[in-house]
Amino acid sequence: MGDGRRIAILGATGSIGAATLDVVANLQVHAPAAQWRLGSLSGHSRIEQLVQSAQSAQFLPETLVVSDADRCDEAHALLTKHDLHRHCRLDIGPEALVRAATDAATDTVVAGIVGRAGLESTLAAVQSGKRVGLANKETLVIAGCIVTEAAAHSGAELLPIDSEHSAIYQCLAEARNLPAGSLNTLEAPNEKPATKWPGVRRLILTASGGPFLNWSREAIQNATPEQALNHPTWEMGKKISIDSATMINKSLEIIEARWLFDVPADRIEVVVHPQSIIHSLVEFEDGSVIAQLSPPDMRLPIQYALTYPERLPCPAPALARDRVWEMSLIPVDHERFPALGLGFEVARVGGTAGVVLNGANETAVPLFLSGKIRFTDIARLCRRTLDDHDHESAPSLTRLLELDRWARLRATQLAETIHVA
Ligand code: NAD
Ligand code: MG
Repeated sequence: MGDGRRIAILGATGSIGAATLDVVANLQVHAPAAQWRLGSLSGHSRIEQLVQSAQSAQFLPETLVVSDADRCDEAHALLTKHDLHRHCRLDIGPEALVRAATDAATDTVVAGIVGRAGLESTLAAVQSGKRVGLANKETLVIAGCIVTEAAAHSGAELLPIDSEHSAIYQCLAEARNLPAGSLNTLEAPNEKPATKWPGVRRLILTASGGPFLNWSREAIQNATPEQALNHPTWEMGKKISIDSATMINKSLEIIEARWLFDVPADRIEVVVHPQSIIHSLVEFEDGSVIAQLSPPDMRLPIQYALTYPERLPCPAPALARDRVWEMSLIPVDHERFPALGLGFEVARVGGTAGVVLNGANETAVPLFLSGKIRFTDIARLCRRTLDDHDHESAPSLTRLLELDRWARLRATQLAETIHVA
């Protein structure tokens, strides 16, 4: 990576996007030698906010992308109104995201779009060999095999932004520096290494448990959208907040870890940690466990993904030493959070299972938010849609996109039967 860095922030109007803008602003002030420049910022429906973000950035982004093609006129008018049209280019529609992600002058892409909508641009950034700060976990859930193969082919660097995966990435630093397979070869010369990480026994993802950690099954069943959106430790977009409450977020993260670190599902565990300070842990063959800790603030994993392998001062607060920090690790209650089992299952079977789980969940979440299904129906719809699909182990991207549409349709049909029941 050269001296000057040029970043595209896809999903700049979201929670991850806003945190990334803050990190970049800080890097521009404190590390001017690196010349952090904003190549593109994208927004979908909150165009006013996109324009305001561009205006308040220390250095104007070169391109503003409005991915909703229907907002073309509005976007042009806003740019003119704020006198930005002479300084920033405007690019419109979903293909504009791919153009921003593959722009030859951009070296780093922050994939901060929520859900399946982020797939094409994230994959395009990976195919064109960028450093990709990956927040959009759904891309790996849908097409993990294709994305990781593309990265191996193009030399793209996939740096996780999801706090758990950033933590694991950091904890694996020691294993990353060992020659591949060296210890495993010494210990068991005739066996294939159990993971690509020498000496690593397990990746342990922490889960906050969300707002319903201590609720009874009955209470969880009748939870309202407002209660489900009220996450105790993280402020995030709506979709991931609901995913955290159902714990489908952790399921998506198990699948994300399976692809990102190339480990089998039985090497991944989940432990509940309500304080969200220990972001994840790695257990080694000798029983030693290495964890990464920091107060819950996404700016740290975002900055790590941007500056790796360097560490620079960050706007996220560090652990204060003048107070007591309690940190508990609690086993998961699979009975109250059945959605977690889906993640292990999908990570184990791979193939078409991820796209189906994701499509069903992305359909169920808005149905819950609009009061059409109950909270516990989200996991039920995911389960039933998965059960209704014929698994294929090596689908093409075209096939995955077909199945994405199928899963949404199937989940919508199933929701109607649930609603009537
Ligand atoms: P958000 O809802 O706050 O923001 C979503 C962004 O995606 C917005 O910029 C929006 O304009 C854009 N977007 C929405 N629909 C789009 C479409 N159809 N086409 C193009 N762009 C579209 O979401 P968020 O919380 O920032 O989450 C973004 C991603 O990061 C998700 O995949 C989430 O799982 C992941 N993530 C978020 C957090 C967090 O703390 N917020 C933590 C870990 C991972
Ligand atoms: Mg996470």
